[in-house]
Amino acid sequence: MSINSKLYNEIVADLKKKNATLVAVSKTKPVEDILELYHLGQRDFGENYVQELVEKYEQLPKDIRWHFIGHLQSNKVKLIAPFVSLIQSVDSKKLLMEINKQAKKNDRKIDCLLQVHIAKEETKFGLDEHEFKEIIEATNFTNNTNEGKETFKDICIKGLMGMASFTDDENAVRKEFQYLKSLFDKHSAFSLQPSAFSILSMGMSGDYKMAIEEGSNMVRIGSLLFGERSKM
Ligand SMILES: *Cc1c(COP(=O)(O)O)cnc(C)c1O
Repeated sequence: MSINSKLYNEIVADLKKKNATLVAVSKTKPVEDILELYHLGQRDFGENYVQELVEKYEQLPKDIRWHFIGHLQSNKVKLIAPFVSLIQSVDSKKLLMEINKQAKKNDRKIDCLLQVHIAKEETKFGLDEHEFKEIIEATNFTNNTNEGKETFKDICIKGLMGMASFTDDENAVRKEFQYLKSLFDKHSAFSLQPSAFSILSMGMSGDYKMAIEEGSNMVRIGSLLFGERSKM
């Protein structure tokens, strides 16, 4: 047994009270570990690498909801399009267009989050404020005819995702979460069904409690549940 079921149950109970969804981040972890959590009731799992996700999808129960949370290259979208539940890491319009195309090919709607760059680290992915605004303004997420705008009929933008800086400076992290929450509030009306734009995915093992305080309703927790990952 590598999963601490008591800790898992505590986290789930706590998140339930706060109406937040737990995505168990299983990257680099074996299918046996995922199954342990599955048997405790967990259904939402997050993966960062396309090949790894496809292999796990093939081996594991089909009622798992797979979240893609890593950097996604456009040419790999087709590999996960048939089954992915939520692509949380959309960081360009090019990617959005490819997801829309593959969704149509698979005759399904694919739910997405826009990933916003909120951390100080340059290495992290995500849209900066300028790119974010560009996508919002150039995109018609409604069914209204909207001249000159790109219409994505086969995807649904469900909300935003962000990763805070790795730092001990709690204030800095809190400010990053607050910034993402303010963008989320400002743009929560751009969907035809405003209720569809409802997911704010922020918070990981080290900072999820603070993220919830700042308005997150989806947390992505890996090492706290599965143990530390060995460096790839
Ligand atoms: C790896 C990862 C997580 C989980 O990180 P932990 O610190 O192990 O909880 C969450 N979100 C993203 C985008 C990740 O890449």
